[in-house]
Amino acid sequence: MRIAFSAAEVAPYAKVGGLADVAGSLPQALAALGHDVSVHVPLHGTIDRAKHGIPAEGPARSVPYARSRTRVSYPHVARDGVRVVFVDGPRIVRARVYGAPDDAKRYALFARAVAEDLAASKDRPDVVHAHDWHAALLVPMVAGPYRRALRGAATVFTIHNLAYQGQSAADVLDVVGLPKRRVKPEAPGQLNPVARAIASADIVSTVSERYAQEILTAEFGSGLQDLLATRRDGLWGIVNGIDVGVFDPATDRHIPARYSLRDMRGKAQCKVALQKALGLAVGTAIPLFGVIGRLVEQKGIDILTPVASEILRTGAQIVVLGTGEPKYEAMWKELAARHRGTLSLTLGFDAALAQRVYAASDMFLMPSRFEPCGLGQLISFRYGTVPVVRSVGGLADTVRDADADRAGGTGFSFSEYAAAPLADAIRRAVRAYRDEARWTALRERVMRLDHSWDASARRYVEMYEAARQARRAA
Ligand code: ADP
Repeated sequence: MRIAFSAAEVAPYAKVGGLADVAGSLPQALAALGHDVSVHVPLHGTIDRAKHGIPAEGPARSVPYARSRTRVSYPHVARDGVRVVFVDGPRIVRARVYGAPDDAKRYALFARAVAEDLAASKDRPDVVHAHDWHAALLVPMVAGPYRRALRGAATVFTIHNLAYQGQSAADVLDVVGLPKRRVKPEAPGQLNPVARAIASADIVSTVSERYAQEILTAEFGSGLQDLLATRRDGLWGIVNGIDVGVFDPATDRHIPARYSLRDMRGKAQCKVALQKALGLAVGTAIPLFGVIGRLVEQKGIDILTPVASEILRTGAQIVVLGTGEPKYEAMWKELAARHRGTLSLTLGFDAALAQRVYAASDMFLMPSRFEPCGLGQLISFRYGTVPVVRSVGGLADTVRDADADRAGGTGFSFSEYAAAPLADAIRRAVRAYRDEARWTALRERVMRLDHSWDASARRYVEMYEAARQARRAA
């Protein structure tokens, strides 16, 4: 099959969160199964062209834009059998991935530039696969104005996080040549790209089975639950895999000592090295909790903040790497100042440091309010780090509580979104950690889990077949 991905983030070129991990590794897994896969991504200002060998120029097109046209060029590289196409143009590219005042317009134009490129290619895709709101308008484009040019390619829309829908004023539709007819629940004059993609895709999917169920409810549906219910039959949930070549303690060049199930000594060395580097008290027996992610309420930072001091009272240490809401950044700065030597805070985005933290930690904290899939817990497994999570979304699908299931547990989890149940799960984790035989068994069990893309990529192929069938039937 010819499959055309488009996404705002693709690792290793541009990464803000989990979307990049998926768009940077699922295409490769599909290519390994014998499919022909391309990925379109904007050539963001943050992308290091020299480092990634991206040519200065690529084939160029004049893309319709409002009543005029704009020049877009498409330099590309091949990575592990996947054609990665960088979409470049003054009306699309900004310094950073998100946060420009014209995000709605430029991402709409990105979608149109992708549609133009696919329609002009001699190898037209069988399936057009758009990810999250940034690429969402590609779906109604392929289902509408580009249907003939694309010879009826099937469309799949994947929701990585329903909380972000990219709403804007409806005039963006005129700019990219889409009809204005409203889709529920758009208000008059308003555009909701995600709603439009859900309404017009042959298949809608999300990144875990549990989240696929949850988004049909008012609590998790972010206002789109009724629209999603109309697509219930075509709503798939496929759990994310991770790139096990990148996240592998046996070969990881970012960590100071390598290790594997056969010889775990390197993990203790990673811990000592990180403790030293971050100015923490050094000791291999000190339980170390890692936190990597956006410091926002989705990730449970509001229930984690009040229990931080209590975690430290158990004799544990906490290492935090992330950025987020200024309010929480300030609170954690204050905590780090108060608990020098036991709590370390690094505000920033640093992929190499993240790998050192995954490797050094004994436990990984992810008490999310909602979590479409979550990758932190899967990466932690790989590094023999035991996750402590709220049982929600993809976290519920991938982590089994080790007290509830002594023989098969893979972490510690709690249900009610509140500080007290989180603190209880943390205390249970520390107790297990202090039982050396139990901890060794638990750590080995999580390292044996297989969260490579293999199984999930096969499910994606089934889903693409279903999308093509749905398109033919339509
Ligand atoms: P999100 O909702 O942010 O997409 P995920 O758990 O799905 O959350 O994916 C987050 C990804 O981004 C993981 O690969 C995680 O290691 C990485 N990450 C998050 N914050 C940082 C950071 N500050 N520095 C480095 N990597 C980070």
